[in-house]
Amino acid sequence: MTTDPIIIRSKTRKRSVALSVEPDGSLRVLAPERTSLKWIKAFIDQKEGWIRRRRKELTIQEQRRPAPLKEGSFISFYGQKLRLVLTNQEEGIEGDTLKLRVSAPPTSETFSEELKIALRLWAKQQARRLLPERVQYWAKQTGLSPTRVIITAPQKRWGSCTAKDEIRLNWQLIMASPEVADYVIVHELAHIRHKHHGPAFWRRVEKILPDYKKRQKELKVWAQNDVLSSCA
Ligand SMILES: [Zn+2]
Repeated sequence: MTTDPIIIRSKTRKRSVALSVEPDGSLRVLAPERTSLKWIKAFIDQKEGWIRRRRKELTIQEQRRPAPLKEGSFISFYGQKLRLVLTNQEEGIEGDTLKLRVSAPPTSETFSEELKIALRLWAKQQARRLLPERVQYWAKQTGLSPTRVIITAPQKRWGSCTAKDEIRLNWQLIMASPEVADYVIVHELAHIRHKHHGPAFWRRVEKILPDYKKRQKELKVWAQNDVLSSCA
């Protein structure tokens, strides 16, 4: 055992003993009031295998959690890896750094949150500029023109096409690669002609983007792993 277990004896607890592993790996035991320390220690020894497995699970969960954002963190933006740098001047990309303006001092506890908010604001602005440009590009290529392009933040949807041929795109797509963003754009444009996911729809998508299946997979992986792990 790495640390002594936290033992909580309870008057209301009659017989059963409950053992749990805390997020920091320490043990917590809930036991009836008169349980002896010796008994509890023997009980913990018996559960050694379970404790080890539980600690391993917790470590894996911990590793999956995104690290807090700080100056020097790397973020993905439209296929680029950018290093965050703070500025009190103009925001924007310079080489492989992204300069962001943040009001809170970097030492404050809420700094990671502040940085996240600043990053989201900046990314949304970029999405409003870049994604409609890409829609125009693909509209020209395909002859499929939406009546409107709306950049929004729907829950768990990357894009949609309404009955009136308005296309909505999730601003978070700007954090994916251009290939993935283009796939979503082309997918929605194809819905202007086909309001379904039947074979004719997919044939049209394939005609425009022969490697669409690869992009679809990339979108899935990105959406699971990365989706703004730093920016959500
Ligand atoms: Zn669709």
